[in-house]
Amino acid sequence: MYCPICGAPMLSHYSANKPVADFYCDDCRSDFELKSRESKTAHIGRTIADGAYKTMIERITSLRNPNLFVMTYSNWAVNNLMLIPNHFFTPSIIEKRPPLKDTARRAGWMGCNIGIGDIPDSGRIFIVKNSILEDKARVMDLYQRSLSLKTEKLESRGWLLEVLKCVDRIPTNSFTLNQLYAFADELHAKHPDNNFVKDKIRQQLQLLRDKGFIEFTTRGEYRKT
Ligand SMILES: [Zn+2]
Repeated sequence: MYCPICGAPMLSHYSANKPVADFYCDDCRSDFELKSRESKTAHIGRTIADGAYKTMIERITSLRNPNLFVMTYSNWAVNNLMLIPNHFFTPSIIEKRPPLKDTARRAGWMGCNIGIGDIPDSGRIFIVKNSILEDKARVMDLYQRSLSLKTEKLESRGWLLEVLKCVDRIPTNSFTLNQLYAFADELHAKHPDNNFVKDKIRQQLQLLRDKGFIEFTTRGEYRKT
């Protein structure tokens, strides 16, 4: 596998006693974790299982999580390989799995699922999609474009990516502010302390416009770019 960030021809394996990630790039020093699942369907699915919930949240909140490769395969063939850049991770996409039963050796241990379906399309960069290999230059372009969504603080990252995901969920290319306000209750549930959700939505739309992901047309109308 090439490095989708700098284009170096080959990634290296971490040795097994270094659990920070699975692969790294010797050129740009990026880390990658690989999660894979056997799947008969062509779709990559909505979630992928990861390790301990607590460790995952700690890595995200300290901004030390690696980039993620999600792979699905069947009969020794790769159906999908997707890159999720590390700046798309927020605690709200991590779901708790039920704790292990009291009878288990690690009783009480809680694993997690990564809600890959909750990540905006800009952070779901397919390298192989439905068994077809995507162009390397295109993969690298999409990664570079996604970098403008990188924020310093985790809190601002959450709002920006959640509003972008709402934009993705509107099926048409043009949309109105009211169509986005329809997601206000859902966003408020994720941020119960914030009582100015509509203001926050408008603010994020301005950021997304400044970053080139949407355009403002006539008053109250937006278009995806
Ligand atoms: Zn690299």
